[in-house]
Amino acid sequence: MSIPVIAVNNIKYPATAEQYLEEGVCDFVAIGRGQLADPQWGNKARDGRDEEIRKCLGCMYCFNSLGLQRPIECTVNPYVGREYIFDEEDLKKDGDGRTVAVVGGGPGGMQAAVLCAKRGYKVTLFEQNGALGGTMLLAAKPPHKEMISQLIKTMEGELGRAGVKVLLNTKATVENVGAIKPYGIILAIGGSPIVPSIPGIDAQNVCTAEQVLSGEVSLSGRKIAIIGGGVTGLETAEVLSQDNTVTVVEMKKDVGDTLYITVKMLLLNALKSAGVTILTGQKLTEIRERNVFLSAVSSNESSVLEADEVVLAMGVRPNRGLAEEFEAAFPHVTRVGDVSRPAQIADAVREANDKAWIF
Ligand SMILES: Cc1cc2nc3c(=O)[nH]c(=O)nc-3n(C[C@H](O)[C@H](O)[C@H](O)COP(=O)(O)OP(=O)(O)OC[C@H]3O[C@@H](n4cnc5c(N)ncnc54)[C@H](O)[C@@H]3O)c2cc1C
Repeated sequence: MSIPVIAVNNIKYPATAEQYLEEGVCDFVAIGRGQLADPQWGNKARDGRDEEIRKCLGCMYCFNSLGLQRPIECTVNPYVGREYIFDEEDLKKDGDGRTVAVVGGGPGGMQAAVLCAKRGYKVTLFEQNGALGGTMLLAAKPPHKEMISQLIKTMEGELGRAGVKVLLNTKATVENVGAIKPYGIILAIGGSPIVPSIPGIDAQNVCTAEQVLSGEVSLSGRKIAIIGGGVTGLETAEVLSQDNTVTVVEMKKDVGDTLYITVKMLLLNALKSAGVTILTGQKLTEIRERNVFLSAVSSNESSVLEADEVVLAMGVRPNRGLAEEFEAAFPHVTRVGDVSRPAQIADAVREANDKAWIF
């Protein structure tokens, strides 16, 4: 298992845990957050099953939950802090080979599919894109977020080992899902970016953070206003600040409110070094070719910000239309993840786990 370490003695770093032990650098290796992410870390590493380890993302969601005085939670491990409720030994294996369709290959869909397969259901997962991961594919793009790609790989491996049939490039419809005669359907179809109805929103110079992160829109040498100072807005600002002059506009009094404080400080410092301006308490009211018009939330006072491109990072709303179609056509349908309530990977994984546990 290769782990990044601070140099000690004369070993070439990073080295493997085995090398540290064998060469006497240390007598044992202790893993902290990694064991919260996967309590089987040690056993899997010992057995050479590295790819099966659900690795810590370093997102500090665990510290955040403790800071909020909640029981500890983990983005990748839905059981942590709830082991007394969810013991895999108690998992009911009562699927009896009945067919379950899971629609959506993001974290919610993958988690639900694996658990249903472990329960003895015959699971088919429909994913309209050519790759699994859902929105995590975009979440992994900004600097320091590469561990999210690892999670996608690990979950893909879990799908394979659990025997889930994965259909990529396959948009699920009432017809093609109906054709496999499912006993039940788990909808994990995510959400779509929120685009407010304001003057100028349909202009050529407006795009979403998702379009930027996916590479569909490429911007350089521009003055950019990013609307929305949540995690997506801030991280997109970090990406765009490499080649552009960026201002983040946020309606609330503060930005990045779901981030753990140290992660937030690191990100804000990086943005400051990159020359990103952050405006809080400002609401977008209109977009024109070279300007965006803002209104102060506290006083309604108007102001104008020069910007030749506008990037929307205003959150996502559930893909309700498609969900309602499925719910009208089939008797046993449940929603998990962003289509249920847009939030974070942790929420999608936990909800998928909990609903699949009793599906
Ligand atoms: C830019 C961005 C960055 C983010 N960064 C983070 C982060 O750093 N940390 C974090 O915890 N959260 C982050 N989030 C939120 C997180 O990614 C989502 O909460 C999470 O991915 C939701 O999981 P999901 O499975 O519900 O949906 P999604 O991940 O959105 O997956 C839905 C899947 O369903 C598929 N689909 C939809 N309709 C159909 C259909 N008809 N047939 C077949 N397939 C279909 C889609 O192609 C997609 O793959 C970010 C979100 C965004 C937008």
